[in-house]
Amino acid sequence: MFVAVPMSKFAECMGYCQVQIINYFHLGIKPGITEAARAGSELHQKLEKLDKLIPRVKATRDELADPRVDLDIPRESLKVKILRSNKNVFAYLGRIDKAIRKSGDVYIIDDRVSKAAKSGPFQSKILQLSCYCEGFSRNYAGLLKFNSIIFQIVQRDLDGNIASNYAQKYDRKRKRFLLENFRTFEKIYNKEIAPEHCGSAAKCGACSYGCGFRL
Ligand code: SF4
Repeated sequence: MFVAVPMSKFAECMGYCQVQIINYFHLGIKPGITEAARAGSELHQKLEKLDKLIPRVKATRDELADPRVDLDIPRESLKVKILRSNKNVFAYLGRIDKAIRKSGDVYIIDDRVSKAAKSGPFQSKILQLSCYCEGFSRNYAGLLKFNSIIFQIVQRDLDGNIASNYAQKYDRKRKRFLLENFRTFEKIYNKEIAPEHCGSAAKCGACSYGCGFRL
């Protein structure tokens, strides 16, 4: 069977509560839209409009292949896909908010909105960005050369002002961690192991699923 898995959904299931795999993929429960998600979508639309105003000249093949040339890739233009075979064919799908190449390194940038300042990104966000980095290196490395990939999570307030900026290299350790999570996700989906409950009433309280396993 072919299983399409949005990367954001995979990251939420593995970074927040694995029971969501059962809810979303087996039971077909769709989570409610939170205020934060609505604010996030409005901000993305706003940033995309602003990005379209930047004058750009399309990069040549030679420029793409030369890591010394800095690049500013239009927002929301890079789709990524990771295919894995594990009893089913899993297609992890995503779209990168923003990517640039600077001094030979590619930066995969993700914008987040939150009312209150956060000390650091959630595990689910790190997993989602790791997916994008892995997808980018699998899908675009033949066309666009780079030395290393860095992911950056830009936290913004409701007006779009930058509150904090978290950056980390996508290295072997991150890749290993991502692959372990893919395997666990697929085992739960394939009903080989049971999902791990988040074990937190606070998390259940903030969760947008109407779930029978809620604490
Ligand atoms: S309500 Fe609780 S148990 Fe159910 S998916 Fe959400 S966090 Fe997990």
